[in-house]
Amino acid sequence: MSKIKALIRKRPKSAQSKATSVNSDNQNTNNTSIDAALKGHTANTPIEQTRWNGWGNININKKVSAHGAKLIKSYIGKTRKLSSVSLQQVLKTVPKSRLPVAMTEFDTVSVDNEVRLRHARGQSFPDWIAMHGGDFEAFPDGVAFPESTADVETLLKLASEHDLIVIPFGGGTSVAGHINPQKGSRPILTIAMSKMDQLINLDSESQIATFGAGTQGPAVEAQLDAHGYRLGHYPQSWELSTLGGWIAARSSGQQSLGYGRIEQLFAGGTLVTPQGVLNIADIPASAAGPDLREMMMGTEGRTGIFTEVKMRVQSQPEEELFKVAFLPNWEAGKEVLRQAVQKNVRLSMLRLSNAVETDAHLHLGTTPSQFLAISTYLSARTQLKKSHAHLWRLRG
Ligand SMILES: Cc1cc2nc3c(=O)[nH]c(=O)nc-3n(C[C@H](O)[C@H](O)[C@H](O)COP(=O)(O)OP(=O)(O)OC[C@H]3O[C@@H](n4cnc5c(N)ncnc54)[C@H](O)[C@@H]3O)c2cc1C
Repeated sequence: MSKIKALIRKRPKSAQSKATSVNSDNQNTNNTSIDAALKGHTANTPIEQTRWNGWGNININKKVSAHGAKLIKSYIGKTRKLSSVSLQQVLKTVPKSRLPVAMTEFDTVSVDNEVRLRHARGQSFPDWIAMHGGDFEAFPDGVAFPESTADVETLLKLASEHDLIVIPFGGGTSVAGHINPQKGSRPILTIAMSKMDQLINLDSESQIATFGAGTQGPAVEAQLDAHGYRLGHYPQSWELSTLGGWIAARSSGQQSLGYGRIEQLFAGGTLVTPQGVLNIADIPASAAGPDLREMMMGTEGRTGIFTEVKMRVQSQPEEELFKVAFLPNWEAGKEVLRQAVQKNVRLSMLRLSNAVETDAHLHLGTTPSQFLAISTYLSARTQLKKSHAHLWRLRG
């Protein structure tokens, strides 16, 4: 295995202080060890700063390089341009809200057409195609932005009184269609958790952090980093997805191998159900009966709405090292991974890319000259190995 790339992140000692109490306004803007993407993200990305018909923050615009685009074309083949409509055109198709007046008078509920449109679809490939063409099918009749558990209780009570369909909404990155309203006769209320995005308590003794369930990935890590801690849950949608969404969708992260899957990280919390509030205690494992915490995970918002969640956090590592190695083929890669896992090598991430993904990463992540340098090196290495093998054979 040859080392091609080693990325090291070191933490300054000052950032490793342990916290005993938390002021949610705390920021650590001087910490140079965290990614630029994290800086200043102590609160969520406002939904109006995200693309209304696709992925990501409108302020982050990365162009696909020419040789990256060429590779994509070579895989996809002949294409045709998608029909594309403007936000203004789609806004004209949003029907009048059917929410009862009692709900629209409630402070936290919005019936604004653009707000409803921005909470109407997830981020699956079919969602992207539909949004591009302005084919939204259905819109929520209103979007509520609760700021507390009590607000959610009130909303669910009113929703039940008025026979509304309720859709809990975290970061809206679902790829399973669960946040998309369906056409029907009952009014739909989407409950967006974006205003519950703060670290509420950090117990440094048990290393359990309590957050508002609507906190997105960067805001989780930036607020913990200010106290020298890390959650370490990085699904590829991390930039916009939330704690509540991760728990409700049983999400898995890129570094779950080391930090644990969401099942290991979620310690307990508050779930508001139409029947009342369920407090899931953050007790250690119990042998008495089924585990409520486990039963509520992965329910996709069907049993209730998580408002506050308790997460198991860890001290920030002093140093992080990421390495990339090129292996001759898929079988050799599988063998390296199998041995690393079975021999319990302590790693936070272990990822095997097949030839197509490796090729795509190389094309998309490099300039043409960098790409040429790496390809030349790899073919020279292959040639060298072949001639060594030939020499060994000749020697008998
Ligand atoms: C580009 C991209 C990459 C992705 N990568 C990954 C990945 O690596 N790993 C992975 O597991 N998933 C991945 N996903 C899928 C998605 O991001 C996850 O399912 C994520 O957990 C959803 O979180 P969210 O906050 O966006 O929730 P949403 O999409 O808003 O909601 C997801 C579900 O949870 C419910 N919900 C949301 N908040 C709450 C709450 N507070 N209480 C109760 N129910 C709630 C919703 O009703 C819905 O059923 C990816 C998606 C995209 C678009």
